[in-house]
Amino acid sequence: MSTVTSSNETPISLTRTRAPHARPADASLSFGKVFTDHMFLMNYVEGKGWHDPRVVPYAPLTIDPATSVLHYGQAVFDGLKAFRGTDGTIRLFRAQRHAERLNKSCAALCIPELDAGLVRRSFEAIVAADHEWVPSTPGTSLYIRPTVIATDVMLGVHPAHSYTYFVICSPVGAYYKEGVKPVRILATDKHVRAVQGGLGEAKTAANYAASLSAQQEAERQGYTQVLWLDGVERRYIDEVGTMNIMMRIGDEVITPPLAGTILDGVTRNSILTLLRDWGLRVSERRISIDEVMQAGRDGMLREMWGTGTAAVVSPVGELGYKGEKISIGNGQTGTLTKKLYDAIIAIQYGTAPDTHGWTSTVQVPQVA
Ligand SMILES: *Cc1c(COP(=O)(O)O)cnc(C)c1O
Repeated sequence: MSTVTSSNETPISLTRTRAPHARPADASLSFGKVFTDHMFLMNYVEGKGWHDPRVVPYAPLTIDPATSVLHYGQAVFDGLKAFRGTDGTIRLFRAQRHAERLNKSCAALCIPELDAGLVRRSFEAIVAADHEWVPSTPGTSLYIRPTVIATDVMLGVHPAHSYTYFVICSPVGAYYKEGVKPVRILATDKHVRAVQGGLGEAKTAANYAASLSAQQEAERQGYTQVLWLDGVERRYIDEVGTMNIMMRIGDEVITPPLAGTILDGVTRNSILTLLRDWGLRVSERRISIDEVMQAGRDGMLREMWGTGTAAVVSPVGELGYKGEKISIGNGQTGTLTKKLYDAIIAIQYGTAPDTHGWTSTVQVPQVA
């Protein structure tokens, strides 16, 4: 066992696996099916706080069937990526912001706060330990999944007194293997994802459970994703699937505001920053499905796209609502959508200057 640390930082211990796995070929990678050789673990017990941060061989967690997370879903997660640039350098994209968001999600579910600096170092430590797993083919990356679960063994309903933080990593293939392909989305006024005062702002398992039946129904109707409307009036657009939504109507780019029901996406924030850098007109405002459908009928709805870590942007080629279908940009990827995708990818892979300081490099251990 060795220790990775620098002055006055909590040491993170490292126990290497004795049975490393063969890495799958980059071309065979999809999303979240293969995991690396190690994982990061840290525990919380009331009175002692978060303790024992460590990188250990990847292995199943052994948990009692009465463990509270299995029953009441007190769980949060996040998701970010490490990219191998053409220069071989491994970069994390906006690691600090992801660490801080994990804490916001924790707060929403009464999970004791983690040290954001340590969370960020947990990302660096696990990627350094498994650096050989960061694929290098263009478009591929290492997906990093930090998660916190309640681990009390009891069936009473209240915030737990013990938790486990773990980070696992999965090498993932290019999202757009066959080129960027616009999706068909269906606005639903039957199901809702989140309401004000609920958990919409948190990245938590419950929101995903709440989305499944609407998603299944959309797929049955031949759509790829659900366009979520607000939970009260079922009129205002919230998000698309598990992504934030943006659209270009005339010369205005519009995205719903962070007003309690949607996730503060890191990709959303990055794209809004770029759009403002480029001097475009950007509005974070409520927008109703009726306004969007009307803009579509009038030929003013020029582009629409989802934003998220997995895809960066996902162009929308068709929008369905109440039996009506609107084609967007003839079902092709819009010029601004493509420009945004290219700009973010270039920063992630280190081929464009990172003027906002969004990336951080991971120091790879020197082999003795
Ligand atoms: C993760 C997620 C997003 C996208 O967030 P990014 O930080 O851009 O990956 C958007 N909406 C929901 C509901 C999410 O869970």
